[in-house]
Amino acid sequence: MYPDPSIFADVAPVVLYHEPMAKHTTWRIGGPADILAIPEKISEIAKLLHLAISNGIPYFVLGRGSNLLVRDGGIRGLVIKLGESYSGYVIDGNELTVNSGRTIVSTANVAMKNGLSGLEFATGIPGSVGGAVVMNAGAHGNEMKDILQSVQVLTPSGEVESRSAKELNFHYRTSALRDSGEVVLSARFSLAKGNTEEMLAKVKGWSQRRQATQPLSFPSCGSVFRNPLGDHAARLIEAAGLKGTRIGGAMISDLHANFIVNVGHASANDVMALMEYAKQQVLLQFGVELMPEVRLVGEDEARG
Ligand SMILES: Cc1cc2nc3c(=O)[nH]c(=O)nc-3n(C[C@H](O)[C@H](O)[C@H](O)COP(=O)(O)OP(=O)(O)OC[C@H]3O[C@@H](n4cnc5c(N)ncnc54)[C@H](O)[C@@H]3O)c2cc1C
Repeated sequence: MYPDPSIFADVAPVVLYHEPMAKHTTWRIGGPADILAIPEKISEIAKLLHLAISNGIPYFVLGRGSNLLVRDGGIRGLVIKLGESYSGYVIDGNELTVNSGRTIVSTANVAMKNGLSGLEFATGIPGSVGGAVVMNAGAHGNEMKDILQSVQVLTPSGEVESRSAKELNFHYRTSALRDSGEVVLSARFSLAKGNTEEMLAKVKGWSQRRQATQPLSFPSCGSVFRNPLGDHAARLIEAAGLKGTRIGGAMISDLHANFIVNVGHASANDVMALMEYAKQQVLLQFGVELMPEVRLVGEDEARG
């Protein structure tokens, strides 16, 4: 292996070794990360990144793990988890600046309580601010790119830089940040004045609709496949007759066909086999090639 992983031991308040990623993903699936660190400050994030890069140790930035399939062999190297302990925010007029570890749901709630409108669409998205920006998360016809003004990033060479929304090349569920190696430290949103009661009423309606149409009582990653142009992955998978299809502990939800739910000890291999089967069937029956929305990371095999 690479150098002694204990070099990370004192860099962040929490540093875990051989940590099951299943504990850190909403699917409750994923093999162990060699090292998982949970920093609280920019200086700790910078030191973790520097130590990893200068020692040739691969690193991966984790938000809330709500759009990730971690393979059963786990993740080699360092996982930097930006969560609860890195979630401060500042409001300045109509601008809300938030550290990337805060959930996008609680960020939207802060905005609404302070009479700021624009983030309501995100109240059903269980990711972090960092993950939501990187994935250009969206719902109800809105996306992060509509309200994001800029982000602060830590570059692999250790500089803290600002990037305007324009520079981030946002597209459907992706951005230039996805494979840049940069860590999103914070995001600045440009919001509008709004009426708190009206906003809360609107999101209550959306929440009821989600409860009725999505299998929220089972672990999942939300939508597994991207919607093909002009169609919906869920419609195609349902029309292929695949609702309820099960491999191991993974099942295509009978409520929403673009959700694969963990109905009991599903492995990443179960999910990948089911994704492959759904892909094949939709291609065979409708000639449409489904592409994953969920990010697949890690190794197939555990280290021997
Ligand atoms: C029940 C359910 C419903 C969902 N509904 C929606 C929906 O309506 N719309 C939608 O768009 N998505 C939805 N999702 C998917 C998911 O919540 C979003 O994609 C979310 O934005 C992912 O954020 P995360 O923090 O969990 O990211 P993670 O899954 O942890 O990571 C996703 C990617 O972002 C990167 N990343 C995360 N944080 C950082 C950071 N600080 N710096 C650099 N890179 C980072 C990771 O490296 C990875 O590449 C849903 C998921 C679930 C489980």
